[in-house]
Amino acid sequence: MNPMLQSLQAALNELDVQQLRRSRRIADSACATRARVDGRELLSFNSNDYLGLASDPRVVEALREGALRYGAGSGASHLVSGHSRPHAQLEALLAHWQSPYIERARGLAVSTGYMANLAVLAALAQPEPRHTVIFSDALNHASLIDGARLSKAQVVVYPHANAQALAELMAQHATQYPQVTNRVVVTDSVFSMDGDLAPLPDLLALSERYGAWLVVDDAHGLGVLGVHGAGALEHFGLCSPHVVWMGTLGKAAGVSGACIVAHDTVVEWLLQKARSYIYSTASAPALAHALLTSLNIVSSAEGQQRRAHLATLRSAFQGVRLPAAWYRLPSETAIQPLVVGQNGQVLQLARALYEQGLWISAIRAPTVPSGTARLRITFSAAHTLEEVKQLQQALEKAAHQFFDSNVAVPTIGEHQ
Ligand SMILES: *Cc1c(COP(=O)(O)O)cnc(C)c1O
Repeated sequence: MNPMLQSLQAALNELDVQQLRRSRRIADSACATRARVDGRELLSFNSNDYLGLASDPRVVEALREGALRYGAGSGASHLVSGHSRPHAQLEALLAHWQSPYIERARGLAVSTGYMANLAVLAALAQPEPRHTVIFSDALNHASLIDGARLSKAQVVVYPHANAQALAELMAQHATQYPQVTNRVVVTDSVFSMDGDLAPLPDLLALSERYGAWLVVDDAHGLGVLGVHGAGALEHFGLCSPHVVWMGTLGKAAGVSGACIVAHDTVVEWLLQKARSYIYSTASAPALAHALLTSLNIVSSAEGQQRRAHLATLRSAFQGVRLPAAWYRLPSETAIQPLVVGQNGQVLQLARALYEQGLWISAIRAPTVPSGTARLRITFSAAHTLEEVKQLQQALEKAAHQFFDSNVAVPTIGEHQ
């Protein structure tokens, strides 16, 4: 083997030693609570399809209609010729939806949330990255971490969801680097692997005090939080020109893509400067067309019913009885993680559940801090109460097997 391949193979072997090698399973069915995998039907608590819209017949039909009308692909980037009517309608719809919370709201449809986050952070750090500082929550999503790195700004990581610590860091930074006057605070609204909420009102107060942007990644809030499902800004009732909002459309919205909503001037700047937006082919117009249908469901009375059902499932799950060595991170959102601790143990638990017909992925470092490996259990409005009871029983049964067959009780440190 050549030396380059040898060194990659050695690195892969090291992942095996640490039980950090990841693999994929091939699903032969649509994204739904029942998945066909390896020739078996599994009950899935894996997806981010929180409202159960990914395989909703109305959304699928809209996708078909969009493809018949606008073809399979956009053919070019947005600034060349790939920007189609459904993209513009999607931007208008999201801007209108967020307009109670953002002054002079304008939308920008981006192909993925990952690209949207790169776009926002890199563009807000321009024109002078050396005079920019980004304050970033310790548990922010990888795309925000990468966006901050790409921006070439200074990055200050603050302790998770800790507005007090952030206040101190911002004060220190202002004294130490008086020339750095462009400030950005960035956070997930709902933390993707923990399910908890960022203290957005406190973060906004700080952003206003320091004249900073507040970038809110609402990937897991849109469709789930707020009476109308508009997400974290609606949930907290925030309204400020400091806020740059980003919502993804492949989770509760059930399709694919992302949208940034901010003050018209911010969006115009992104349009001119955000390279991950400019130098990439626009998503298929059919996806935007399908999103017009799914987002209308999200914000409708039916969407409210779906959110209410999600809340019912969550409270039913509160009764689950599990060993003290595993701890749940119960949340107000669809994400209900179970922290097990060590990689080997979480893999073993995921396998035991798989044997019982349940599909829940084990999440390990670097997605979560080492020593906090977990099952990321997610609920969807498409789950039934019966299915949540089945999950509860399967977990309790696995816990018995686990603790009978494992002499060593897993030890885990304090979370965070
Ligand atoms: C999923 C996710 C993203 C990325 O969105 P994609 O559209 O999947 O690229 C960004 N931020 C958070 C918090 C996410 O969970």
